[in-house]
Amino acid sequence: MRDVGLASRIRAKGVRVIETAGCQTRGSSTFSPKGSVNHHTAGSPKGTISSYSTVLYGRPGLSGPLCNVLQSREADPTQDIAYIIACGKANHGGVGHWGSLSGNAYMHGLEIEHTGTGTVPQARLEIAARIHAAFLEAPGSSRNAQNTCQHFEYATPKGRKPDFRELSPFTADSFRARVQYWIGRTANGVVVNPGQPPVYVPPVLELNDTGIPVKQLQQYLNQILKSTIAVDGHFGPATYHLVVTFQKNSGLSPDGVVGPATWAAISKAITPVQTPKPVIEDQEMLIIAPVNTAGRFLLHAGKLVGINSPTDLTSFMNAGVKVAGVSASEWVTLQKAFPVVIGS
Ligand SMILES: [Zn+2]
Repeated sequence: MRDVGLASRIRAKGVRVIETAGCQTRGSSTFSPKGSVNHHTAGSPKGTISSYSTVLYGRPGLSGPLCNVLQSREADPTQDIAYIIACGKANHGGVGHWGSLSGNAYMHGLEIEHTGTGTVPQARLEIAARIHAAFLEAPGSSRNAQNTCQHFEYATPKGRKPDFRELSPFTADSFRARVQYWIGRTANGVVVNPGQPPVYVPPVLELNDTGIPVKQLQQYLNQILKSTIAVDGHFGPATYHLVVTFQKNSGLSPDGVVGPATWAAISKAITPVQTPKPVIEDQEMLIIAPVNTAGRFLLHAGKLVGINSPTDLTSFMNAGVKVAGVSASEWVTLQKAFPVVIGS
């Protein structure tokens, strides 16, 4: 199967979601997930999704996708975004097992954008717990958080992988408890019919309300109306006026209260904005496009750049550009053609 309902289940947990182009058909369909593995990217300390192209396209020796979901590193960790990378099987676990579960065909994988050193904010881990709960609610999956593990628990031989040995303020067991809490619950913690995926019903918001749903509302309004009000989680006069403007524009009654009809209109208005272009411009990575007989090309900032010699390639690398996105066989071909060591 491919878990095409993943985005909507994660949204139902109150987590912001971006579906990458092609995610519904990315990854092998030989996937029948029963559990999940939690990872960190060990990527660059800069950027909200600095590992994006690596998890999407792979790295030398390991072809992508390298996870099902990449959790971004927002300045405010309560606002982390779940980037849906692949709905099919992804290459994330390597050799190992958790209980009787072994192999990526049985495990969803979450990569959290994190360097691997230092602690992770509790709010970030709470978002991760919600994402794993959504994993375990997949059709045919276990709905049992005992089937969620950290990569260090999964990988063999023991000690092969460090992520996430240090989950402070959680332990691997208390993390599982948080995952279990979110299974079968909506974003607001309301228990829904066991066996039914929860449907996210956004709360009704009005003047003087506060909290994360208000922040989300403010971000959406700024996006839709190209306004710049503070995203402070406080429904004050500025937010009120934007809501009224949006309601007027949408043919709704301009009462300043964000109820089901206004939420539905917002959701419709933001959909195009939430779908990223196939090529993300703010890459720190350079992607090698498929080999072309006329030469080799690098995709950089959305443009194809011709590479005619190893010197060209070296000059890119000397400029600090990392290279990713080559399949194992392309990598072999590439090394023959350009006998330079690319990346690390
Ligand atoms: Zn890992």
